[in-house]
Amino acid sequence: MIVKSRKKSLELQILSYLYNRMEFSEKYLSRLHALQKGYEGEALFESYIEQLQNNYLVLSDLFLQVNSTSFQLDCVMITDEKIFLYEVKNYEGDYFYDPKQDRISSKSKEITNPLPQLIRAETLLRQLLQTHGIRLPIVYNVVFVNPEFTLYNAPKDKPFIFPTQIQRYLKQFNNYSINQLNKNRFVAEKLLSLHTSDSKFWEIPPYEFDDLKKGITCEVCFSFRTSVKGYSCICIECGHSEAISIALTRCVEEFKLLFSEDKITTNVIFDWCQGIVSRKTILRILESNYTKVGKTRSAYYK
Ligand SMILES: [Zn+2]
Repeated sequence: MIVKSRKKSLELQILSYLYNRMEFSEKYLSRLHALQKGYEGEALFESYIEQLQNNYLVLSDLFLQVNSTSFQLDCVMITDEKIFLYEVKNYEGDYFYDPKQDRISSKSKEITNPLPQLIRAETLLRQLLQTHGIRLPIVYNVVFVNPEFTLYNAPKDKPFIFPTQIQRYLKQFNNYSINQLNKNRFVAEKLLSLHTSDSKFWEIPPYEFDDLKKGITCEVCFSFRTSVKGYSCICIECGHSEAISIALTRCVEEFKLLFSEDKITTNVIFDWCQGIVSRKTILRILESNYTKVGKTRSAYYK
């Protein structure tokens, strides 16, 4: 039972929107790729967990704090007896394990060994639970989720689950679900209530409204070469057609996330769309999809 599912993080959403609308330096580009890759890996692992025939409690992507130390958990599964903690890695390609230095590297780069990070998370989670009087054994594993991942010289004594082992590993959880009482539901609820925002760790480039590229992007190919015909927004690049109300709402949501402090008005959205949608249509869509605040000329929507 998925209690908290994995969604695209706000940082990833903001970076994806900005990437379309401004030039990215190498730093933000690699941040965007890392977040996207991580998201895909964790979503894939969650899809495997979802197929399990049991009612264990699963929480994805938790951001927690204990004694002002922050830590992030990719996936937590709570049974009546234990807590299973998973660090999900979406590395792709051939990697080598160096037992002397306890390092993982590919031909082109070295990656941070995920195990120390996971052990740290386990310790902090245990401390956090103890402060709330919860004492449950925690079992932790690193899951290499990408089917294209190979680790040469892989150590047998580490809690690593490789792509070819995931299904076999998860099968064990299909077995003893009958007696599951969910007596630890309060643990899931506690973790959920302690989940906080990770926004102070975001890496977002500085941006201003005036500097961003304006227009409605195609939802399929992200091209700005779109035009409005009747009630449709048509992509000149790939031919995709989307109802104008949906395309514009998508565009407004993008604006809302990027400029959360700013007010949504017909004029602002008109500029944001590069004027390809008439003010009349914008007004109609704002009226039907958002709540109007105020009645005068300074009215806005939220
Ligand atoms: Zn397109």
